[in-house]
Amino acid sequence: MKHLIIIGGGFAGSYIARKLEQQFHVTLFDTKDYFEFTPSVLRTLVQPDHLKKIEVKHSAYLRHTTIIQKAVTEFTSAEVIADQKHYPFDYLVIASGSHYTTPIKEENIAIAARGKELREYAQKLEDAKKILIVGGGVVGVELAAEIIERYPNKKVTVAHAQNTLLERTPRRAQTYAEAFLRKRNVQILFRERVNLGQRKIYTTHNGKKLSADLVFLCIGISPNTEFFAPHLSNLLNEKNFIQVNNFLQLPHHPHLFAAGDCNDLREEKTAQGAEEQAKLVVDNLLALESGEKLKHYVSHPRPMVISLGAKHGIFIYKRFVCTGIIPGLLKSLIEWKTMRRYRT
Ligand SMILES: Cc1cc2nc3c(=O)[nH]c(=O)nc-3n(C[C@H](O)[C@H](O)[C@H](O)COP(=O)(O)OP(=O)(O)OC[C@H]3O[C@@H](n4cnc5c(N)ncnc54)[C@H](O)[C@@H]3O)c2cc1C
Repeated sequence: MKHLIIIGGGFAGSYIARKLEQQFHVTLFDTKDYFEFTPSVLRTLVQPDHLKKIEVKHSAYLRHTTIIQKAVTEFTSAEVIADQKHYPFDYLVIASGSHYTTPIKEENIAIAARGKELREYAQKLEDAKKILIVGGGVVGVELAAEIIERYPNKKVTVAHAQNTLLERTPRRAQTYAEAFLRKRNVQILFRERVNLGQRKIYTTHNGKKLSADLVFLCIGISPNTEFFAPHLSNLLNEKNFIQVNNFLQLPHHPHLFAAGDCNDLREEKTAQGAEEQAKLVVDNLLALESGEKLKHYVSHPRPMVISLGAKHGIFIYKRFVCTGIIPGLLKSLIEWKTMRRYRT
């Protein structure tokens, strides 16, 4: 059997490991020892027990894969290096995803420590009177809604650099989210960039002073591609995302693939997208083995569900927008369906 190494056990990497662990000798490197349903992490900040529903150890669903909980620090076209040890491969899939600010997304952590960390944050949140959320994209809006649903008397402020919340969504979704939060007394400040790195009193670039006991930064992702330095940085684009061709291969390296948040495909970075790319990588790895033609990745619009607490939400598909209880429940259904795949 040929040796396939996968870097990263998120949506893309864990999907590929599950699908190919019988056809290849698979080794999965992950800095965490578990899969986490990231879209529901915000809920765990107000409801820490929810964590049990959205995490599963890699060893519980991968039966034939060698799991190594270590960070890959370097690689060549023939081997990866972790903890100064060299691991040769025939094929490599890079699915190292992206990082977000603590505690929303974590790396280098075991499942037990993650639980402790989130419970500590939940306590800080309970103790805080004034909460500042920097960023009014999907994550900032979802977090504000979770907090205000659980703690209706806390003073929650969302500071956003743009003119509207959720700026990449249709107008109706933006106005619904804004009205939903304002109705619950969330203060929303537009066109304000918060100067980071201060304590308790924060100033914006317009000179506004904001006081907060707890701050969450919800300002977007950056790819986990540090291990391309120093020799292979030329394979990254100017924002450090991995360049891939239509087959999701790295240019001039047909046996190296990259899927999910870490690659430079121009589409909204989502869990659904990561899984679709992972499906194509599975097909293309099998095609390479059998000498068949590889498939192209075609990016297309996907439905999106934004939750506003446990009971409300916004469903968006192209220009169609539906708001209210049904989209809210849909998110829980997606979580349940996804996690069921990891538990059977
Ligand atoms: C708060 C939040 C809410 C979201 N909500 C939604 C939503 O509702 N719907 C949706 O579709 N998407 C949502 N997303 C986006 C979605 O979570 C990501 O697009 C998805 O997780 C990407 O999957 P991935 O497999 O590419 O990477 P990741 O999930 O980031 O997984 C990458 C893995 O690689 C590991 N890793 C990184 N570097 C190394 C290394 N050097 N060596 C070994 N392992 C490494 C990481 O620890 C991690 O386990 C949300 C994201 C956030 C942060």
